[in-house]
Amino acid sequence: MRILILQLLPDVRNRRVPRFAPQLGTLLTLLKQRGHELALLGLSSFDVLKIKAALAKHLPQLIYADISAVCADLARRTLQHLHDHEFLPIVAGGEYATVEPAAALSLPSVQAVAIGEPDASLVTYFERIKDPAAGQVVLGVWLRDEKGLARPDMPALVEDLDSLPFPERDLFGYADYVKATGQIEIATGRGCPQQCAYCINDWIESIYDEKGTWTRRRSPDNVLDEIDQLRQNYADVRIVYFTNHAFALDPAWLEPFLEAYARRCTLPFRCHVRANAADDTAVTRLAKAGCKLADVELISGSNFVRNEIFDMDLSGEQIEGAFERLHEAGIATRAILYLGAPYESEVSLDETAALLRRLKPSVVDVRPYFPWPGTRARETARDNGWLHLRGAEQYHRDATGIDMPACRPPIVAAWIKKLRREFPAGLAEPWWRRWSSAGRAPIDPFFPKRR
Ligand code: SF4
Repeated sequence: MRILILQLLPDVRNRRVPRFAPQLGTLLTLLKQRGHELALLGLSSFDVLKIKAALAKHLPQLIYADISAVCADLARRTLQHLHDHEFLPIVAGGEYATVEPAAALSLPSVQAVAIGEPDASLVTYFERIKDPAAGQVVLGVWLRDEKGLARPDMPALVEDLDSLPFPERDLFGYADYVKATGQIEIATGRGCPQQCAYCINDWIESIYDEKGTWTRRRSPDNVLDEIDQLRQNYADVRIVYFTNHAFALDPAWLEPFLEAYARRCTLPFRCHVRANAADDTAVTRLAKAGCKLADVELISGSNFVRNEIFDMDLSGEQIEGAFERLHEAGIATRAILYLGAPYESEVSLDETAALLRRLKPSVVDVRPYFPWPGTRARETARDNGWLHLRGAEQYHRDATGIDMPACRPPIVAAWIKKLRREFPAGLAEPWWRRWSSAGRAPIDPFFPKRR
């Protein structure tokens, strides 16, 4: 079957669309292996010309729309156009379909939605389309049939991640990405044992209740085989970026992985390090294996916001200790902050600025908080009547998604500007962030100078 993949994503962080996403990439490889002909169109805004060109070029028989949770409006507009001008069946998936399956199923021309991880469900569903005699109900795929809404149970999680093929990258234009950044992104696992309330992780875990182990990791050799393959495919690789937040959270996996990495790969790497995992042993091992940059989700300098609202289970002492150990080991740090969280105030914003001054991160990424659909923090904001009237549009405008009487969006915006001016941004940040680091040349986050 000829399938056009529509990837609907915001471009607020000035990141290109289509954008490589490991789970979507794995799905594309599986579909290719079953003989489907695939094309990929990334959209971050409604664009009739691009849609027409993609349809004319690839003549798809079916469209699979992978929809970000903050792109419901874009999806509605795009699919309405397809509904009015084409006669193509559409299947929806991605975060939006996972969080709002009934709403996704009501989008124009959508005949089915895939919830959660699509590896098993969608591949089977597309086979059933080719062979309707086998029946169309597939675990994890909601659809409307003559009996009404079919909502089958979820399938079991794929626990052996090594059994999955390496994700497709060329359809995402990955050679250009590597050329521009020197970086390859590697997912070493799926799921996360933490329960941060601003994150969709625990929502997705809950829909897989009793369907297998949620936090899963690939074997070290499987990850390193993929890195070897990517280095052969792309000449410009100079950095490996491990994208999972849970990367350093399990010492029993991390130790053999870092040993294998040091043995098989000479490239420097960056990874997420949760501050509660950055003890002496872990930091020493990371540095020895070639870690040059740690992305640390600091989120807020306020203990109340971080732990009571966002449920991060992360003390100020853990954070300060983690930054000290990372810097002492020669690992640069990128601190990630959200401003404008539920119950934010000028006092908590001041605490955030004070913490940053003490930590002296190598680069700082200050973002407006947006209540991501499917998260508990969004429920907190909604229950208090704080969701911003503009909804997801705020996210696309790089502005906070909640509006509290005690800390209005203009106050949050002023603090974002102030912190972006005061602290250095990395070269990889969008241009407006880099240039708002006033009077200071942007820093290559991979090899920053210590301040
Ligand atoms: S550590 Fe990261 S992935 Fe895990 S729950 Fe928290 S925000 Fe989500």
